[in-house]
Amino acid sequence: MGSKEISSYIEGFNRFKSEWFQKSQNNGEDIFSKQSPKTLIIACSDSRVDPAILFGTDPGDIFVIRNVANLVPPFVKDTSFHGISAAIEYSVQTLNVRDIIVLGHSRCGGIHALISPHSSGEFLPSWLSIASGALLRVKIEEYDSEEELVRACEKEAVLISLGNLLTFPWINERIAKSELAVHGWYFDLEHGKLEGWQPKEKKFLEI
Ligand SMILES: [Zn+2]
Repeated sequence: MGSKEISSYIEGFNRFKSEWFQKSQNNGEDIFSKQSPKTLIIACSDSRVDPAILFGTDPGDIFVIRNVANLVPPFVKDTSFHGISAAIEYSVQTLNVRDIIVLGHSRCGGIHALISPHSSGEFLPSWLSIASGALLRVKIEEYDSEEELVRACEKEAVLISLGNLLTFPWINERIAKSELAVHGWYFDLEHGKLEGWQPKEKKFLEI
């Protein structure tokens, strides 16, 4: 068996199996027979920001979409492969989630690449361009360091994604009928803080 990491994944699965399948049988219910999560979380692919670990959820609790920089693309109908939009559609239209959380985080390499002139790749620049407006929306002169500027862009990118969620007509309809709510959260992984966007105060505050 390959690297020690790979072996540890098998051990981890065995622990998961004995805990969850036993629990499932003891309770007389098969928690793996179907899913009905109440929440969609859109998080970064970053290895440090796994929503299930951060929020202590159980299997079946949350429907998760992860991508570079936790971005939501705008509603576009064409023949491209819209994996993120398809997953949003499934969770909203079929699973009927009640809440959508866009979870940003500090020290995000994806957002850092936005302000870095040497960002490259065949797919990344185009993907990250979803958040390019973040750099235009922050007042660059207000930030003393690049780190502070990236942090501001990370939060603006969450707001751009929240705005893009509203370009999906069936999300708008459900919000209007109070069947769905959207939330912008930000995990400050340097200080272990969780912040939430407060529309009234127009800022992220610790929650
Ligand atoms: Zn990230």
